[in-house]
Amino acid sequence: MSLSEITTKIEKEETRVGRPVGSTQLIAVSKVQPNGRVEAVLREGHRLFGENKVQEAAGKWPGFREQFSDVKVHLLGPLQTNKTRQAMELFDAIHSVDRPKLANTLARLAQEIGHCPDLFIQVNTGEEDQKAGVMPRDADAFIKDARALDLPVVGLMCIPPADEEASLHFALLRKIAARNGVEGLSMGMSGDFERAVAQGATHVRVGSAIFGARDYG
Ligand SMILES: *Cc1c(COP(=O)(O)O)cnc(C)c1O
Repeated sequence: MSLSEITTKIEKEETRVGRPVGSTQLIAVSKVQPNGRVEAVLREGHRLFGENKVQEAAGKWPGFREQFSDVKVHLLGPLQTNKTRQAMELFDAIHSVDRPKLANTLARLAQEIGHCPDLFIQVNTGEEDQKAGVMPRDADAFIKDARALDLPVVGLMCIPPADEEASLHFALLRKIAARNGVEGLSMGMSGDFERAVAQGATHVRVGSAIFGARDYG
C-alpha cells in the first residue's frame, strides 16, 4: 500500500466513527528497512517515523535529519536503562516506558539535560510473559508515580497478543487512559490500524504496509 492509501483509510475510518479527520497521527515504522525506501517516504513529504532500536536509529536518523527538516522519530521498542541518555538525545518520543527503574533514570536525566521526549507508558494488555509493559492492574499506580517524577506522560501504548481480537485490547488501553486522564493512545499496526482508529488511537504505528516486508536476512 502506498502512504496515501493508508492515510485515506485512516481518514475514512475517522469519518466513519465520528472522529475529526486528521486526529490520528501515522508513524511510519522504518526499522530494518533499507535507507532507499525510507528516503522515498521522506521525499513524499512524510515526517513522522518509528524505530525499534537505539543503535539502528543512531546510524540512520542524524543523516536524514540533516537532509530533511522537521523530522520526528519515535522509539517504539524496549529501552535498556544504560541507553536512556542516548535515546533522549535521538528521539522525540519514547513509547516503551514500562518500569520504575527506567522512569527514575528518565527523570534524573531530564533534570540534568533540561528536556525530556514525550513519553508513552507501555501496557501489557494481554498479560503475556514474553512481552514488555506494565500489567493493566499496575498501570494506574505507575502512571501516578511517573507523573510524580514530573515526567511528560502523553500517552499509553500496547501491542495486542497475535492470536486475540485486537479491538478488545485497544478498548482496554483506552479505558485505562481515560480513567487516568491520559490523552495519547499509541495502538494499531499494519494489520489492525483501522480497528485502532475506531477505538480512538491518536498514533498508529505502521511499518510493512507502507515499506513492504522487512528483510531480516
Ligand atoms: C515493528 C513494529 C510496528 C510495525 O509493525 P508492522 O506490522 O510492520 O506494521 C509497530 N509497533 C511496534 C512496537 C513494532 O515493533
